[in-house]
Amino acid sequence: MAISLPPLPYDQNALEPHISANTLSFHYGKHHKAYVDNLNKMIEGTEFAGKELEDIIKASAGKPAAQGVFNNAAQVWNHTFYWHSMRKDGGGEPGGAMASAIKDSFGSFEDFATAFKNAGATQFGSGWAWLVEKNGKLEVRKTPNAETPLTEAGVKPLLTMDVWEHAYYLDFQNRRPDYMGAFLGHLVNWDFAEKNLQG
Ligand code: MN
Repeated sequence: MAISLPPLPYDQNALEPHISANTLSFHYGKHHKAYVDNLNKMIEGTEFAGKELEDIIKASAGKPAAQGVFNNAAQVWNHTFYWHSMRKDGGGEPGGAMASAIKDSFGSFEDFATAFKNAGATQFGSGWAWLVEKNGKLEVRKTPNAETPLTEAGVKPLLTMDVWEHAYYLDFQNRRPDYMGAFLGHLVNWDFAEKNLQG
């Protein structure tokens, strides 16, 4: 069983005007697909062939000889998680369980938003900003390149924001803060975060 490219959970123009169909056609259709294709080539005939994606990520993490497998496998997972972290007409403050979890952990939504945008802004070069749950509290994380909190025991990823330049360059050029503002203001899918929190 090869690893497959999961479908986008919405049309390629669903996130406009914030993230264009042009960006999604490259980011999903070229970048995400390339990680899937590269991974399938790399694992053919190896100990990783036939394993589930999450098992490949966990088994290759931190092993220098499997760095290429880890990078591609984690990028496949991270991107699928990122597509679901956004939706048409998303953004703004969450309600329900996410609202109380954010207030309990960060003090206020504004304090969470500041921490999340700071994580994205201070990730030098390529990487990801995350909202995760650990020991009943929410935390903001940043990871470089393909690194993912999925490999950390006891940590549950809730949301992610891709801060590789390919995520925003066609729409925002070098303005990463504007992209992050659009993500939180108009795109973030709090229903997905809540489902992950309670899952
Ligand atoms: Mn990406």
